Amino acid sequence: MKLGIFGGTFDPVHMGHLVVAEETREQLGLDEVLFVPAGKPWFKSEMPVTDAEHRLAMVDLAIASNPAFYSSDLEMARPGPSYTVDTLELLHEKLGDSSQLFVVLGADALSELERWYQPQRILELANVVGVTRPSHRSVDLGELSKTLGNARDRLSLLEGPLIEVSGTEIRKRIHEGRSIRYLVPESVEGYILEHGLYR
Ligand code: ATP
Repeated sequence: MKLGIFGGTFDPVHMGHLVVAEETREQLGLDEVLFVPAGKPWFKSEMPVTDAEHRLAMVDLAIASNPAFYSSDLEMARPGPSYTVDTLELLHEKLGDSSQLFVVLGADALSELERWYQPQRILELANVVGVTRPSHRSVDLGELSKTLGNARDRLSLLEGPLIEVSGTEIRKRIHEGRSIRYLVPESVEGYILEHGLYR
């Protein structure tokens, strides 16, 4: 089985995330994409993040209509910072060598891979796939792999539709009383309104 692992804050999940996941699923022929909201994102430890339960509930609403998309509370259930490498170790142990793991991320996150916790171990356990973002239309994979023990064959960059939306932008718009229609699925917009998030 080819399994995509899509981690992130998802605060909230938005159309940019869904397009990245679907584009990767299609281009790489993934059987499933697992959305894994971070419990306490290590890279955002100074910033307040919405309760993980809300972020997971919104992910579940957003992916409900896609039979290849699943969510996992694996990182939320673990105390301390969420490290991708720990999630991969767990999945590898559970699924064994018959499954191929693909870490899915935006090109902005890919370009910072060397700063992640244990990036070389990540590349032993999985392929890492970046998807272009308007702010990051290219990444020098050759340069990146040099800093990561020459794992060039485990790194790739996919071009997908460029969608300039971020969690930050959504939160800002809600805070300013502006519309987020079409930037998040309708069900997620409803959830945000119902629970008074980001005001
Ligand atoms: P924030 O603005 O709160 O930092 P974000 O939407 O940029 O949020 P995350 O929710 O942490 O970030 O994103 C999870 C993953 O999805 C990251 O790998 C990020 O690069 C990627 N991603 C998010 N939005 C887009 C987008 N519009 N296009 C491509 N990749 C994206």
